[in-house]
Amino acid sequence: LTVSVTGATGFIGKRLVQRLHADKHSVRVLTRSRSKAQLIFPVKEFPGIVIAEEQDWKDCIQGSNAVVNLAGLPISTRWSPEVKKEIKQSRIKVTSKVVDLINGSPEGVRPAILVSATAVGYYGSSETQVFDERSPSGNDYLAEVCREWEATALKVNKDVRLALIRIGVVLGKDGGALAKMIPLFMMFAGGPLGSGQQWFSWIHLDDIVNLIYEALTNPSYKGVINGTAPNPVRLAEMCEQLGNAMGRPSWLPVPDFALKAVLGEGASVVLDGQRVLPTRAKELGFQFKYPQVKDAIKTILS
Ligand code: NDP
Repeated sequence: LTVSVTGATGFIGKRLVQRLHADKHSVRVLTRSRSKAQLIFPVKEFPGIVIAEEQDWKDCIQGSNAVVNLAGLPISTRWSPEVKKEIKQSRIKVTSKVVDLINGSPEGVRPAILVSATAVGYYGSSETQVFDERSPSGNDYLAEVCREWEATALKVNKDVRLALIRIGVVLGKDGGALAKMIPLFMMFAGGPLGSGQQWFSWIHLDDIVNLIYEALTNPSYKGVINGTAPNPVRLAEMCEQLGNAMGRPSWLPVPDFALKAVLGEGASVVLDGQRVLPTRAKELGFQFKYPQVKDAIKTILS
């Protein structure tokens, strides 16, 4: 395949590009910054990779078989009103651009597949409910962001196979939520965060990359698909496993204020959770490499 990827320079995108490149697919990195992308994907290691800034996205998308759309301002930061606006706008702007470029591509060079990211924040938060792809959307800020983000992707031509991946909290080395949680953990000899009762719908980085890869290559992957491991855990358990893996039994709860100091209002991503099941992925026969958080954390920290 020839695949154009937005957000390719990010935590998930980097790994996806490595995987696609290793499997001999042609990758086009759609970025805002060529110099940044060149550092991440040096020609020596990634011969043949195309890096394109926005004025060249059109040429890249035309002639690609597929587009993966991952771009957006990171949400785990301090949320000023401006940042909140940018969290939403950055996603809608890039998605809208990608969709317009796909829809505007002449037949024959129009990509046939769009895999677009969204998040489990779509469902809102709850300590008691269980959500899957058929559940309605929540009514908080992140749910609104996800709804509008998805609605923008849904404007793609009907003859394009669209997979919307509602991604959970991605656990991996060198990035994502875990990288931010570990220092806190060290500081507080860490116990649960907040009440500890919140649900934490996580997925290992390898699994989310595999799921996106499947969505690209398997025509049955269509519509909304939750990108979460089959066994979400309460935050207290997540922290206990993290403590065990780090050789730090968890006793003292990490106070909300500490998490908020690191993540700002974006801490709500971790502090207000939801229990989300990957019903569609299971129906599609997707094999999770890391179904249990214990094994995921162990591999990541080893
Ligand atoms: P990252 O934050 O690591 O990377 C996102 C990429 O988006 C960046 O590399 C950057 O690419 C681009 N970007 C950043 N800011 C902006 C902006 N203001 N406007 C346009 N583009 C921007 O994201 P992840 O890899 O962690 O996640 C990928 C997608 O999946 C994101 O949209 C995220 O919301 C979603 N997701 C991730 C989860 C996670 O746990 N990681 C959980 C749920 C959803 P460049 O500089 O090259 O343009």
